[in-house]
Amino acid sequence: MSPYLSSCPCCGGSELYTRKIDSGGAYGPNLLSGLGSFWRSPKFDVVVCQECGHTLFFADQRAKEKLPKAKGWRRISS
Ligand SMILES: [Zn+2]
Repeated sequence: MSPYLSSCPCCGGSELYTRKIDSGGAYGPNLLSGLGSFWRSPKFDVVVCQECGHTLFFADQRAKEKLPKAKGWRRISS
């Protein structure tokens, strides 16, 4: 189970599945552009609820650390 969730935020279900997935592939967009390194693309921890199918993506630790200084990423002020 993901360290981030114990139940689905959509339906409340507890049957959650997770795995690590690359944030960019050869034929798709690089969803965490600028947050990886030359050698390593950032990964997502993806969580899928077996009950309703709700899916969440969490950027990995290194991607999170790079966010404040990464080119092209704008902080949404509250
Ligand atoms: Zn659910």
